Amino acid sequence: MHKVHHAFFAAALLVLLFSGCGRRDTAAPPVSAVPLAGFDGARALAEVAALVALGPREAGSPNTLKAADYLATRLRTLGLPVERQTFTAAAPGGTATFHNVVGKIAGRGRGLIVLGAHYDTKGGIPGFVGANDSGSGVGVLLELARILKHGWTDAPDVWLAFLDGEECRESYGPHDGLHGSRHLVQQLVAAGRTNEVRGVIVLDMIGDRDLTVTLPPNGDARLTALVLEAATREGVRQKFSLAPGPILDDHQPFLDAGLPAVDVIDFFYGSAPGLHDYWHTPADTLDKVSADSLQVIGRVVLRMLTSL
Ligand SMILES: [Zn+2]
Repeated sequence: MHKVHHAFFAAALLVLLFSGCGRRDTAAPPVSAVPLAGFDGARALAEVAALVALGPREAGSPNTLKAADYLATRLRTLGLPVERQTFTAAAPGGTATFHNVVGKIAGRGRGLIVLGAHYDTKGGIPGFVGANDSGSGVGVLLELARILKHGWTDAPDVWLAFLDGEECRESYGPHDGLHGSRHLVQQLVAAGRTNEVRGVIVLDMIGDRDLTVTLPPNGDARLTALVLEAATREGVRQKFSLAPGPILDDHQPFLDAGLPAVDVIDFFYGSAPGLHDYWHTPADTLDKVSADSLQVIGRVVLRMLTSL
């Protein structure tokens, strides 16, 4: 294992770690309940494959802009309006440019839910394409975009936020890592929408075929309970547990702003249970990502949406 400062692993090393029935828009298609049965893990895996095919996505690299363009095009193809957030921020080595891509599903006046996943990959690792970290979260979000684009009964707005700059260059701090999530929080504050936020659900590293989601203690208690409740209802509760220590990831800037947020992440990603030897290595390839695991996460998130 190389020397690393990953979002959660830095913490891990320290602690082990780790409608109302509002009027329907006349142009919109019929609205139904959250389409639980619609989520297709195989489609989500195909989305991961398409992203990974673009290659490494280190923040600030030309390839990251290519990935951002791809994600925006993909969302528009799926029928969603897209907001591009291109911004600069201080970073090790000087000011860097980042690109968030946010797909927006219009709700019916019941607030806002943010579903987030980073799409950048850790730099400086030859051959690292980040199928699980970060492709898996992207794949689930795009599949959610496909099935949620028309909203559902009694729906809040849903933002599908593809975040840049989660990975740090050197070590996590105010100017290194979590750039995209910090920027999105600033945008919510500037728009005066923080009071509308009903929940922020961040997905990261959730494609491992041996799915062992570890919910960190630095997460909103109600959202954490909702994840576990949804997992129980899905019959997959055994795949979810509480992490023994805090995890630093894209949910943290939302928590810091007083917003309810939870990080759905599988801490253990490796060649045997309890190991993480695939993480931030060239072994993080598409063959390690499972459509079944993506399906589990997609359905758990959909169940949560009905409770938020
Ligand atoms: Zn990472």
